[in-house]
Amino acid sequence: GDHPLLERQRQHESNARSYPRRLPLALSRAQGVYVEDVEGRVFLDCLAGAGTLALGHNHPAVTDVLVRTLHSGLPLHTLDITTPVKDRFTQDVLGALPAPFAHHARIQFCGPTGADAVEAALKLVKLATGRGTVLAFQGAYHGMTQGALTLMGNLGPKAALGSSLNGVQFLPYPYEYRCPFGLGGGAGIAASLAYIDNLLSDPESGVPKPAAIIVEAVQGEGGMIPAPVAWLKGLRALATRHDIPLILDEVQTGFGRTGRMFAFEHAGIEPDVLVLSKALGGGLPLSVVAYHERFDTWRPGAHAGTFRGNQLAMAAGSVTLSVLRAERLDAAAAELGARLMAQLAALAKEHACIGDVRGRGLMIGVELVDAAAAPDALGARPAHRELAGRVQRECLRRGMIVELGGRHGSVVRFLPPLVITAAQIDEAARIFGQALVAALP
Ligand code: PMP
Repeated sequence: GDHPLLERQRQHESNARSYPRRLPLALSRAQGVYVEDVEGRVFLDCLAGAGTLALGHNHPAVTDVLVRTLHSGLPLHTLDITTPVKDRFTQDVLGALPAPFAHHARIQFCGPTGADAVEAALKLVKLATGRGTVLAFQGAYHGMTQGALTLMGNLGPKAALGSSLNGVQFLPYPYEYRCPFGLGGGAGIAASLAYIDNLLSDPESGVPKPAAIIVEAVQGEGGMIPAPVAWLKGLRALATRHDIPLILDEVQTGFGRTGRMFAFEHAGIEPDVLVLSKALGGGLPLSVVAYHERFDTWRPGAHAGTFRGNQLAMAAGSVTLSVLRAERLDAAAAELGARLMAQLAALAKEHACIGDVRGRGLMIGVELVDAAAAPDALGARPAHRELAGRVQRECLRRGMIVELGGRHGSVVRFLPPLVITAAQIDEAARIFGQALVAALP
């Protein structure tokens, strides 16, 4: 028989959606990169709170600061009123931003979620520009609230809801493996930029001048697709030339995940508006928007919310940032990500069902395809959602949690804590390889 918790979960399936719906799992303990379920089975956690836990579960420095903060008598929530903890945290976040952006940045504290900060970013650019539409990208994920959902570059979750923005135009994302222009490489990048430039330059393109372009430097939920550096540079140049604010959503990529503190740093560009959450609060709910001061036209209180002042999250965020920096976890993410990619790429040579292995730092995706189907012009085969589901289940049986993503749900996503060791990376690759073999028909 199953553990009573799992039994209850099955009976009340509507109470426990998503991951547990597909995969019965009830967790009771966690430490570092491992979680343990109610029956004592241990799993290597390559999901880590959807990338939130940069330092892994229950890192002693985080636990320690939380306990000390709780005992210090600090008010736990202060709305937008300052405290020593908030002041330090604000300085720490500004200190993590590269110059010159850091010198001109203002920070708006938002509610607990990434989506909340995306909403704030949208309001900010709409108020600052007086324009109402936004350019977003196919495959994009920015959250589940109305505005953020409107920006989602996948119809599934939003088809029945309509749009809550004045208008969103979706642009092709530079998805190398499935180049929207059927070109790939430098030619695909050039075509993509020319397409966007044309939309913005031609008054008869049918697309009004937008309040912003919003982009993920690496699409996470969309399937771990890194935008080529040359494309990011080109997009930045286009946005500047057309006087359109560029919003970078680094909710998932921020704080070392991609091998640099922020993913935009790979391209040597700057955002006008930067959306941050997940690792920001050291595992506790928190989000902010950092933006260039020239957009600071909104009035105090233009973006309010009760839970903007979570002192525990700020304390955890500060200590997480200091550990990140002291232990050079951004550099570690680059190195360990390369290590995992190399092993996954070796597997791809043996298995035709691995269409693509890609990522940046510790944000890695394996796109599973139907090896029996005919490839398209670029050599890509159709996505294989069922196989991905089977691989995920086989990983779980072998003691590893991975999440799926991608436009067709066929990308196995690795998003482990940045403190993962080389030996644990090798373990992840080994489990994945065995799970793949077991999942093949
Ligand atoms: N933006 C990006 C890039 C994300 O990956 C996510 C969450 N996966 C969000 C926004 C939304 O964050 P939240 O789930 O905290 O609302």
